[in-house]
Amino acid sequence: MHELGIVFHIIKQVKEVAKENDCSHISKVVMNIGEVSTIVPYYLEDCWKWAVEKEDMMKGCKLDINIINAVTHCDDCGCDYPTVQHAKICPECGSEHTWLLKGNEVEIKEIEVN
Ligand SMILES: [Zn+2]
Repeated sequence: MHELGIVFHIIKQVKEVAKENDCSHISKVVMNIGEVSTIVPYYLEDCWKWAVEKEDMMKGCKLDINIINAVTHCDDCGCDYPTVQHAKICPECGSEHTWLLKGNEVEIKEIEVN
């Protein structure tokens, strides 16, 4: 379960942003999580609830997760298709010359302070 490590990493980044902006409390963090990233949102939320209570400036801080649909691009026919249904083989032309356009994100989108 590496979600806890991710949570610590996010908290560290959020705290740095808060410090730079002179904020004393962070009320909400919004994250983009790609559909084919290795993160399980349920575990992430679980770790989050536990970890933020140990941080004075983040007590009660909410976590919102935006799931980013995974899309793969095919170099041979130029189409974009949903990665989860078709994986590496293009459904239009059967090519394997494909690459992940998006869906692997693990990033902070927004930080709300009060
Ligand atoms: Zn194709």
